[in-house]
Amino acid sequence: NVSKTYRLGKMTVPVLHEINLRVLPGQIIAVTGPSGSGKSTLMNIIGLLDRPSEGELYLDDQQINLNMSDNKLADLRSKRIGFVFQTFNLLPSLDALQNVLMPTTYSRPAKNEKQRAKDLLDQVGLGRRMKHRPNALSGGEKQRVAIARALINNPEVILADEPTGNLDSKSGQEIIEILLKLQNEGKTVVIITHDEKIAKRCQKTYRLLDGRISGEEQ
Ligand code: ADP
Ligand code: MG
Repeated sequence: NVSKTYRLGKMTVPVLHEINLRVLPGQIIAVTGPSGSGKSTLMNIIGLLDRPSEGELYLDDQQINLNMSDNKLADLRSKRIGFVFQTFNLLPSLDALQNVLMPTTYSRPAKNEKQRAKDLLDQVGLGRRMKHRPNALSGGEKQRVAIARALINNPEVILADEPTGNLDSKSGQEIIEILLKLQNEGKTVVIITHDEKIAKRCQKTYRLLDGRISGEEQ
């Protein structure tokens, strides 16, 4: 029953209305809808980047205390959720390996982190691009770095907001194959997309329209 209203001065902008959505562990689901329908707002709320105005969130059947501090919320987020964005959001001054290691600075550093980052880059096919900075990588390669980064803290959930939106169709296809493979390996994956072909490959699709769920397909 999640709603979200932004306040801009005296204006209120209602964006999400009583959204009910459930993702089972290990599922891959799609959220589709026209531009402005509230997809990114919903993803930010599911991903604990933003708080709902009304409603409840559960992770593993445990209700999330939405009054916890920003730091505690960030801690929970960095351990349990990995993000992939349309615009990649890599740091331009860091090479691929350093970008993948970025999220580790927010949680307790584990042993062999660097090796793990290298293994993840290998897994996404970028073993030979570790020292490349983002501007020396293609769009598809940047997104693969972003996926490796999303995996570094071994989260159970991957949230991808239009991960293929800035890619040509071949690179986009490769990114979707990687996300499907992650689900196959046990991750829970939520893909926000405009692309019906991508939605069709997911187990379930939620359609958003004007901040409401207008349809749900298995
Ligand atoms: P989508 O990702 O589906 O394109 P968004 O979730 O980005 O949609 O935006 C949904 C609506 O919420 C839009 O009308 C947008 O202008 C509004 N909106 C998004 N973020 C904010 C914000 N921080 N403040 C005010 N309005 C916002
Ligand atoms: Mg969006």
